[in-house]
Amino acid sequence: MHTFGIIGPGAVGAVIAETLQDSGYDVTLLGRKTGKVQIKRAGISASTILPVKALSQTLTAFDYLFIAVKGTQLEGILPFLPQVTDKKSICILCQNGHGQLERFTLPNTYQAVVYISGQKKEQVVTHFRDRTLILPKNDATTMLQQAIADSKLDLQLHDQYLYDLWYKLLVNLAINSVTALSRNTAIILKEAKVRQLCRKLLHEGITIAAAEGIDFEEDIIEEIMQIYDGYPPYMGTSMYYDIMNQQPLETTYIQGYLYQRSQAHSLDTPCLDTVYSLLVASEIKNEKD
Ligand code: NAP
Repeated sequence: MHTFGIIGPGAVGAVIAETLQDSGYDVTLLGRKTGKVQIKRAGISASTILPVKALSQTLTAFDYLFIAVKGTQLEGILPFLPQVTDKKSICILCQNGHGQLERFTLPNTYQAVVYISGQKKEQVVTHFRDRTLILPKNDATTMLQQAIADSKLDLQLHDQYLYDLWYKLLVNLAINSVTALSRNTAIILKEAKVRQLCRKLLHEGITIAAAEGIDFEEDIIEEIMQIYDGYPPYMGTSMYYDIMNQQPLETTYIQGYLYQRSQAHSLDTPCLDTVYSLLVASEIKNEKD
C-alpha cells in the first residue's frame, strides 16, 4: 500500500489528510509537535479528529508527500525533508503564490494550485468548501492520480497548468493586497476607488503574465471582479487574517514574485510596486517591539 505524508496540519493539510484517510489510505499528518487536529464543517455537528505526529521525530520516507505549510513557514520544514523522503518520493507543494519550487532540491516536486477553502483556529480546522488540487500532467503526477483514485480528493492534471497557476496568482493579487492593506474585509469592494485599484492591479498582473508567456484576455479582469463580488462582505482573505493576527504575510510569493518578474521585464507596474512596498513596510518592526 502507498504511504502518504502530509506536512502542515492546517486548513489545507488537514483536509487533504482527512479526505485520503476517509478512503482507507495510509496517511500520516505531520506538524510541529505530536498532538491532534479537529476538522469541522459549518452546520454539521459531526467532526473528525486526526492524530498529528511531530515532523522532527519522523524518520519514514513516504511515497507521496504533500507540503501544506504557508510560504513563510517553508524555512522551518526544508531541513526535515531528507528524513521523510527518498529519491522515489513524489512531493506536492500545496501553496498559493509562485517561485517557491526554486527552494526545493528534491527531483519530483510539483506545486499544486489549491482550491480547498478553510481556516485554522487553535487546533480546529473549519472546512468551508472544495477539495481540488490542479497539477501539471506528467508521469509522476499521473501515478499520484492513480494512487488516490478511490478518494474524494479532486486531483486534476492540466496541460495548461501554468495558466491555472497564474490565474490563481492574479485572483490572490488584488483582493489580498487591498484587504490586507486596508485591514478590512471584502466589504471594501463597495467602494468604487477600491474596485478601480483592483482592476488596475489585475491589468498589471496580466501584463506581467504576458511577458512571461502566459496570455490572458483583458475580460478576465471582470471575471475575477465577479469572483470577488461572490465573497460575503464579512469575509477576509488569507493575507487579511494574517495581518490582523500579526502573522507573517505570504507577500514574497504573491506580490513579491510578480514585482520581481515585472522588474526583470522592465515593465511599468505602479500599483503593484506601491502595494508591494507597503506590504513589505507593514512587516518592518521597531527594535523595541
Ligand atoms: P494554515 O492553516 O496556517 O496551516 C499551516 C499549518 O502548517 C499549520 O498547522 C502550522 O502549524 C503548520 N506548520 C507550520 N510550520 C510547521 C513546521 N515547521 N513543521 C510542521 N508543521 C508546520 O495554512 P493554510 O491555510 O492551510 O495554507 C497553506 C497554504 O495553502 C498557503 O500557501 C495558503 O495561501 C494556501 N491556501 C490556503 C487556502 C485556505 O482556504 N486556507 C486556500 C487556498 C490556498 P501551527 O498551527 O503550529 O503554526
